[in-house]
Amino acid sequence: MFEKGQAIINAPEVYFRRTPPPDDASNTTTSDVSYTSAAETMALHNLRTTTPDAIDDVERKIRVSISEYKDTDTASTASCLYCNKPFIEKLWCKECITSLEKLAEHVDKKAMNNLANRYYNGEGTKKNLEKAFYWYQKAAENGVKEAMHNLAICYNNGKGTEKNLEKAFQLYQKAAENGVIKAMMYLAICYYNGKGTVKNLEKAFHWFQKAAENGIKEAMFILAACHKIGEGTEKNLEKAFYWYQRAVENGNTDAMYNLAICYENGEGTEKNLEKAFYWYQKASENGVNKEAMFNLATLFKNGEGTVKNLEKAFYWYQKAAENGDEKAMFNLAICNYYGEGTVKNLEKAFYWYQKSAENGIKKAMSILAICYKNGEGTEKNLEKAFHWFQKAAENGVKEAMFNLATLFKNGEGTVKNLEKALHWYHKASENGVKEAMFNLAICYENEKNLEKAFHWYQKAAENGVKEGMHNLAICYYNGEGTEKNLEKALHWHQKAAENGNEKAMFNLARCYEDGKGMEKNSEKAFYWYQKAAEKIIFTPL
Ligand SMILES: [Zn+2]
Repeated sequence: MFEKGQAIINAPEVYFRRTPPPDDASNTTTSDVSYTSAAETMALHNLRTTTPDAIDDVERKIRVSISEYKDTDTASTASCLYCNKPFIEKLWCKECITSLEKLAEHVDKKAMNNLANRYYNGEGTKKNLEKAFYWYQKAAENGVKEAMHNLAICYNNGKGTEKNLEKAFQLYQKAAENGVIKAMMYLAICYYNGKGTVKNLEKAFHWFQKAAENGIKEAMFILAACHKIGEGTEKNLEKAFYWYQRAVENGNTDAMYNLAICYENGEGTEKNLEKAFYWYQKASENGVNKEAMFNLATLFKNGEGTVKNLEKAFYWYQKAAENGDEKAMFNLAICNYYGEGTVKNLEKAFYWYQKSAENGIKKAMSILAICYKNGEGTEKNLEKAFHWFQKAAENGVKEAMFNLATLFKNGEGTVKNLEKALHWYHKASENGVKEAMFNLAICYENEKNLEKAFHWYQKAAENGVKEGMHNLAICYYNGEGTEKNLEKALHWHQKAAENGNEKAMFNLARCYEDGKGMEKNSEKAFYWYQKAAEKIIFTPL
């Protein structure tokens, strides 16, 4: 009577082993440690820069610059009574402020606005927001369009008066309609966020466009984003590309990253990796965002749009990782593990696997567990290995499901639990892990559930597991869990033998020797006995 192989396939043979370095051609299991690609994240990043967050960010930048905002040009007609110089860029003499005050009191409306600016910024006099508000209001009532804008800022920020977004909106609108360019930008933001008015994306778009056409670089950037995702206007990639380009030309560094994406994906322009590389580099050097750094590193790693350079890839992965990019952390771990672009360092690899796992990279969770299981770059710790295999398995990493099942089966790092082992072998099998199919069959066979054992041996065999082929052959030979069928037994014995299963070789030889299910053939019997013998000598069992 032939005997089945009864040992489960242990994880160390299959998955408790690190993926070898890319140059090791003997192993092709790279799926668990592949680099996270830039393309994978591209869609996300495209959106990232066009969400309201980006606009809030621009708004914040503009708010910060409000204190530096001066509208003194309207005073050019009047001059200081003492030094006789116009109130243009600065106060020329100590008496300029007194002079300005006098003009304002005598209904020089432009002087009112300029005086307010002095009080607002504390120039030539003590800062006094209440007085600034008072004189902006006076000037605005007298039709000075710059004062309307400045008054809106006071209402918007609660400076010198109570905060009042509705009034701010109305004044931005007045100023914008009177041609104050910065007010156009603010008005657009009010419409975009629904601040002081009802949210209206079409109107927001209209005023972003006005501001962009008048040279506001932040507006150009946002306008491009609106065109890209079709917000407040029709989606139009060519126009998006055009405005990203204009924004960059006008000194908006944020748009460099988006321009790079246009070139990389061929959106609104011809695909051009060299140009994509160029703008990713510019964006990275300007510290625009971690995503640019990540993509730059990936282009260096793959030699796309530039000459392949692993040291530079490592450098930029590190920069991106230090800026909190979790995919870069993962790739950095791989660089450290294999010594790509840096000196091989398992401790650092472990550190970055841990960081990326903690930041939700599923593949990293599984690898971190392997580090703990094998004691790579850290102390061996089965409980922690179990913890991270479980995390990874629950997040759908199929290799982790398999390994988790094995830990449950062997009681490693956790209490032995055959039900849970079965559960996770099932999950892994459903996800196509062929070794799990075989182990499942063994579990069922141990429970004397021969039909299910047969079913999973068959699955494993069909998926190329040689131990599965051998055991399936025996199921057919003995009629276990299925009808006895000597032809099929022979077929699977042959398959298993051809795939290098030494027990099957031996059984096959005996079949040929005894003529069971076929004609006797002593030559073939000899051939397979010899093969089996060689295998047993060279492969310690
Ligand atoms: Zn003066």
